[in-house]
Amino acid sequence: MKMQTAKRILAGVVLVLSFFLLMSFCAYGVIAEEEEPFLKIAGRSLSLKDSVYITYYVDTNGAKEDISMLYYTSSKEAYTVETADSRSECLGTVSIEGKEYAVFRYTKLTAKQMTDTVYARAYIRGNGTDYYSNTDKYSIAMYAYNKRGTEEDALCRAMLAYGGEAQLRFSYRTEDLASAVHHMVTVEGGALEDGFSYGLYVENAMATVRAEAKEGEIFSCWTVNGISVSQDETYSFPVTEAVNLVASFQAAAHEHAYIETVEREATCSQTGQKRYTCACGDSYTEELPLLPHTESVEEGKEATCTEAGWTNKVVCSVCGTILQEGTELPAKGHEIVNHAGQDASCAEAGWKPYESCTRCDYTTYEEIPKLPHAYSGDVCLSCGKEFYSDGLEFSISGDSCVVVGYIGTEGELVLPAVYEGYPLTSVAQEVLQSVHTIFYRGSEGEWSGIEGAASFEGTVYFYAETQPSEAGNYWYHIDGTIYLWG
Ligand SMILES: [Zn+2]
Ligand SMILES: [Zn+2]
Ligand SMILES: [Zn+2]
Ligand SMILES: [Zn+2]
Repeated sequence: MKMQTAKRILAGVVLVLSFFLLMSFCAYGVIAEEEEPFLKIAGRSLSLKDSVYITYYVDTNGAKEDISMLYYTSSKEAYTVETADSRSECLGTVSIEGKEYAVFRYTKLTAKQMTDTVYARAYIRGNGTDYYSNTDKYSIAMYAYNKRGTEEDALCRAMLAYGGEAQLRFSYRTEDLASAVHHMVTVEGGALEDGFSYGLYVENAMATVRAEAKEGEIFSCWTVNGISVSQDETYSFPVTEAVNLVASFQAAAHEHAYIETVEREATCSQTGQKRYTCACGDSYTEELPLLPHTESVEEGKEATCTEAGWTNKVVCSVCGTILQEGTELPAKGHEIVNHAGQDASCAEAGWKPYESCTRCDYTTYEEIPKLPHAYSGDVCLSCGKEFYSDGLEFSISGDSCVVVGYIGTEGELVLPAVYEGYPLTSVAQEVLQSVHTIFYRGSEGEWSGIEGAASFEGTVYFYAETQPSEAGNYWYHIDGTIYLWG
């Protein structure tokens, strides 16, 4: 009924607040705009012409069907189709500056509701997905607040006085009478209780602002006109004037996120290095501990008479470091045995007195060479050996004798014709090849009968007791000394 009265009062003044006011009301931003929404409330106006209603203009990005406007008469945790208190369908479109907007109208405001806040949000369901516009926040009182000092000021005041009376009459939200003094609170870097960055408060009502730090920021303080008013992130204060609260933030201490890189692998002989680098450029290094050595036993060596030895050593097979030194074992020194000397004879060499070691081949042994034979005629007086070269090796087979070897360095050889009663029948080739001169104890005829003699390339002298009549290679000896005939 009261609404009817209001209509009559306002009917006299033909007042149409057109959408020329459009964008001006968007000065106070709204929350819940994560991305550029598909639907966007581009503006709204209040009409006081026939009845009081709010007109919304929605940029629908070309969509025309099934768009509705959701309304909320109190602030919500989330403004969704489920939490909406009411909704209205599109009334048609209107073209403003060549762009088409869908028009919606909220008509449920009665006189007592002038300080009620209306939250509105366009909505469309398509392909099973809910699409929402930004959420708008508005009230008649807000409209009137913005008209202060304009031509409509008096009208608005009268309207608000009327609204306040209605509230008193119906005991409706009398703590926030439309006729009371209101102040706009705006917030930067945070939000009011309902999540919006603006709100109209009756004088001395408590407003609460909450800072909203972005990532990498920490809240520092609330300021008004550059002056700090609170260091609490959530700050409540009585509203005594229009106020713009600005939350100030500091860059939060950067938390380094280091990536590890091994710059040098550790070995058993050198520590390694690992570097930690953050994308910000900060870096530090860490030492990588030495790896353990790889133990390997190096066999020791026993000491000898003359050389020191050592016990087993433990070394690292990778870097060569000696991990456990061997102990030196001193040289033992020779264990000496003394030997008596022996005189040389023409049959055997002798030696001087000498010493030797029982452990090694150390010796001071020194041979005394054989003495020369003392031939008297064909036989040595000392040893009884017949006169022919020492070092000849004989082999007796059947009734003949063969020279099979000669151990001697001289190029001359005295060769017997008969050895121990056996006639010499053969001389081994290597014996013949090792000498250049042979003094044969037989005749030329006997020599030609010896196997292998024909191949001898050196000189052969044949034996003759007396001077032969013809010239040739003949020899004789007196007590072991050779003479040539001729
Ligand atoms: Zn960093
Ligand atoms: Zn090592
Ligand atoms: Zn020794
Ligand atoms: Zn002798």
